[in-house]
Amino acid sequence: MSRSPQAIELDPVQFVLDEETASNSSHTESLLGRHSPSSSDEKQSTSAAGAASNRPRILIPTRDMIAAAAGRRREAPSHVKTVVVGLLGLLALAYGVTSLLSLGSRFGGAPSVRVILMISDGMGPASETMSREFLQYLHDTRSVDGGSLLNGSVWATLAGGFERDGFGLTPLDEMLVGASRTRSSNSLVTDSAAGATAFSCGIKTYNGAIGVEPAEKKPCGTVLEAARRQGFLTGLVSTSRITHATPASFYAHVVDRDLESEIASFLVGTGPRGPSVDIALGGGECFFLPNSTKGSCRTDGEDMLAKAEELDVTLLRGMNDLRAWHDGDGHEGGRVLGLFARDHMSYEIDRQQNSVLENEQPSLKEMASHALQYLENASAGGKGFFLMVEGSRIDMAGHNNDPVGHLSDMLAYHEAVRFVKEWVDKSNEEGTPCVLISVSDHETGGLSLGRQLTTKYPEYAWYPDALLNATHSTEHLGALVAANSSATRDWLRSEIYGRGLGITDVTEKEIDELWPHRKTAYWSNRVLADAISRRAQIGWSSAGHSGVDVNLYAYGFNASGIAGNRENTEIGSYIEHAMGLNLDVVTMELNKDLAWHSTSAGKSPQTTQRRTEVKHYHGDF
Ligand SMILES: [Zn+2]
Repeated sequence: MSRSPQAIELDPVQFVLDEETASNSSHTESLLGRHSPSSSDEKQSTSAAGAASNRPRILIPTRDMIAAAAGRRREAPSHVKTVVVGLLGLLALAYGVTSLLSLGSRFGGAPSVRVILMISDGMGPASETMSREFLQYLHDTRSVDGGSLLNGSVWATLAGGFERDGFGLTPLDEMLVGASRTRSSNSLVTDSAAGATAFSCGIKTYNGAIGVEPAEKKPCGTVLEAARRQGFLTGLVSTSRITHATPASFYAHVVDRDLESEIASFLVGTGPRGPSVDIALGGGECFFLPNSTKGSCRTDGEDMLAKAEELDVTLLRGMNDLRAWHDGDGHEGGRVLGLFARDHMSYEIDRQQNSVLENEQPSLKEMASHALQYLENASAGGKGFFLMVEGSRIDMAGHNNDPVGHLSDMLAYHEAVRFVKEWVDKSNEEGTPCVLISVSDHETGGLSLGRQLTTKYPEYAWYPDALLNATHSTEHLGALVAANSSATRDWLRSEIYGRGLGITDVTEKEIDELWPHRKTAYWSNRVLADAISRRAQIGWSSAGHSGVDVNLYAYGFNASGIAGNRENTEIGSYIEHAMGLNLDVVTMELNKDLAWHSTSAGKSPQTTQRRTEVKHYHGDF
């Protein structure tokens, strides 16, 4: 399934065609001819996608389908609009078809198609069930007299948009189309770097790899780079450091995810291909500050913020800059880099409980909204765009086995999905084809809903109510414990277990358990996470990732084209086909002169360890 640069066989005729169409008027041929798996050109499309014959096909609209849909629209224009809102897939195609047919509004050869890829890092199927059942519990008006549990709850803002109609589905439930298989090239359990490179390059690679193939660790062209090369706008939103594995895999090419100093230079645009990201919003300012600056994470003295300014990038450092940019004409274009935290951004529940943080950091939904507004304004000339939006810290709470942080950022992700879906509807109703894909790169924590607490036969239950009165992530609380050198048992009982986790029945044995760890933030965090997980009767099998399939969601223009049980690489192929991209050309360009690229690993011990593991198919047992 992997497609290394060495394995690429470029059809010279097709190459010329794609080169021409990138700057000429017949992009329809490239978009619909090369990549459309209609029965008559099955062979061609299958080889183009590198597809195996026994998997679901990626459904790309053929000219016949578009013509038929356009005909239907002409016959009954007043009905189409109504039907599209209710039905997805082909009917959504009928609505967006006019733009794709005309292609006259495109800019620089790119049609005006819009692709939004949302990644819920580390959110497995059990996590999705957990968020749905917690939302249903919060909105259950039978629980209290005269109102729901939301009144006065710290979860009110996060859960307020949920409507408990009918079965009480989440915004994601309503757009489930299948599942994604997640393994990497060297392990049945992927990491985020290999997981995101499957989406960005459409290839399987090794854990730790950022935009490089596994055989010789050479760079692979990404959908984001190909999109920008072909005239689309590009954007990235992430609640982690913007140089972290998932966003990095769309714009950088390094052999190890820990090389974040190098990754930052790709984002700023001083890398080998120059700039590829028009707007990037997230955390991780520390990798842009020279190591002579306090709080820098860089391994060298480069001032990447100064370099960004030299390249006319608009810098947004904090909410004040974001607001001023929003109120001014900032959404009108030019490259933008918004950094809202030194390191990762805060968990949403911690951000909402802290007025200082709330004034420094936007929510995931706010960042997605700003990115979309920017991309919409900048695409007024007819450009389409590719936008990746990552709920990064769902994964990190999974690593901590912390149900509070996990729920917090899953609910924030759902709010962002709800907003983006409305945006997709608007775009399709206005005739600009737009599709939203939501998927996780992997599951984190081995979460299970139901936990055996004793040797007795277990209860068939898990308890969302145990999480109701928690006000902070256990990471935040663990840091508070470690920072308080005069912590007492009473303080732990009242402030940390009580006000922090909403636990009113903490035992002396539990305080005994925390006491020896109280000077270490990480272990305090883990002890607290276990205390609340046990009360909710939820289990975790790992502080790392697991290998289960994850849910695949799609909504809008040709959403049904990705339906089925998919290899994660097919998400990348789907985006490539939907936008008519040529990743192979970008791969060739990146590999023309590799003087800039080091295939030796970084210097960190983790990097050395990770390279060794590459030899072990099953990972580190
Ligand atoms: Zn992870």
